[in-house]
Amino acid sequence: MQILPASRIRNLAPYLFADIDRIKREVEAKGVDVISMGIGDPDLPTPGFIVESLKQAADNPKNYRYPDYQGLARFRAAVAGWYRRRFGVSLDSETEVCALIGSKEGIANFALAVVDPDDIVLVPDPGYPVYRTGCLFAGGRPYAVPLTKATGFRPELEAIPQKVARRAKLLWLNYPNNPTGATVEPAFFVQAVRFCLKNEIILAHDAAYSEISYDGYRAPSALEVEGARDCAVEFHSLSKTFSMTGWRLGFAVGNAQLIGALGKTKTNVDSGVFQAIQEAGITALESNESGLYESCAVYQERRDLLVGALRGLGLDCETPRATFYVWAEVPKGYTSVSLAVKFLNEAGVVITPGSGYGKFGEGFVRFSFTLATPRLREALRRVQALRL
Ligand SMILES: *Cc1c(COP(=O)(O)O)cnc(C)c1O
Repeated sequence: MQILPASRIRNLAPYLFADIDRIKREVEAKGVDVISMGIGDPDLPTPGFIVESLKQAADNPKNYRYPDYQGLARFRAAVAGWYRRRFGVSLDSETEVCALIGSKEGIANFALAVVDPDDIVLVPDPGYPVYRTGCLFAGGRPYAVPLTKATGFRPELEAIPQKVARRAKLLWLNYPNNPTGATVEPAFFVQAVRFCLKNEIILAHDAAYSEISYDGYRAPSALEVEGARDCAVEFHSLSKTFSMTGWRLGFAVGNAQLIGALGKTKTNVDSGVFQAIQEAGITALESNESGLYESCAVYQERRDLLVGALRGLGLDCETPRATFYVWAEVPKGYTSVSLAVKFLNEAGVVITPGSGYGKFGEGFVRFSFTLATPRLREALRRVQALRL
C-alpha cells in the first residue's frame, strides 16, 4: 500500500534548514567539534527551587489523574497575580486565562479556534514559523507582513492594503521579537489595537521573550492598552523566562471569548498539563524572580561578546535590548544560506539563515547565544579568523 500523507503536510515548503543539517553532519564526520548557535534553547538550568517543587508535587497521587482542561484554578490565579504585578493588568482567572502545554501548542491551536478556510491571517515575515503553519493547517491564507530594517523590524500596519486588512481575521505580533531581537514601546500596541479594532481583526501577541531583556528595558504587554481586551489575546511561556523549554508549560490570556474558543479547541485535542508541572509553574510565577535577573546578566555578557566580535568581523547588527538572538546583516556577495554554509564549513559554527523565517528574512542571519560562555568564546575565536 502506498502511504500518502495529507496535502496539508505535503504542501508545506521544504525544510529550509535541511541543507544546513546535512552539511553539519558532513563537517562532524570529519571530526570537527561543531558549535551550534542555531537554536534558541536556554543552556542555563531551571532554577533549583522550581525543580524541588516538581519533586514534591510528583509524590502526590492527586496529581496522577487527568488535569482540568483550562489548568488548575491555582495556576490560573498565579498567572493573574503575575500579570497584575508585572504589567498592572488585572485578569479574571476564571475566564481570561488558559494553561498551555507550551505556547507553541497554543499558537497552533489558536488558528483552529478562530480561522475559517480562506480567512486571511497577517503573519510577520521574518517570523516564528508556527503562525504561518497554524494558519495553513486551519485552511487559512497567510499574508506576509514584512519586518524590515528601515522600520526597526516593526510592521507598517497602515501599509497593508485596505482590501487585505478588511478581509483579515487575525494578526500575529511578537515582541520582543524572534528572530530579529527587535523591541517595542507601549505606543506600538496602542496603534496595533486601534488598527485591529478598526478592521475587526483579532490581535494575537506572542510575548515569549518578555522577561529576557537588558539595559533596564522592560517589555510591555499588549493588554496594557485600552480596548485590547475587546480584540486581543497574549501568549506566554515559562520556557524562556525560567529556562523550562523541556517542561512544556505556557499560558494564554486576554479576551474571554477568544480564550474560551481556544479552550474549546483544546478540549478536543489534548487533556491539559500534568498537574505536578503546573504546581512547579505556580512556584516559578510566585517567586521573587531574582534568578531571572541572574540569567539575564549572563545573557547580557554573552550578547556584548557576540555583538563586539561580529562588528569586528565587519557584520552589521543592532545590540538587542531583549531575546537571546543577534540578527546580523549578510555582507555583499553572500546569501543568508551561503554565509551560514561558510560559517559551518570554515569555522564549524552553526548559525541560522534568515530565509528560514520567511522571504523577508533573506539578507540576515540569526546568532543564538544560549550556549555556555566558554563555548561561545571558542565559537567567536573561530569566527574571528574568517575572511568575509
Ligand atoms: C520559544 C518560542 C515560543 C515558546 O515556545 P514554547 O512552546 O512555549 O516552548 C513561542 N514563540 C516564539 C517566538 C518562540 O521563539
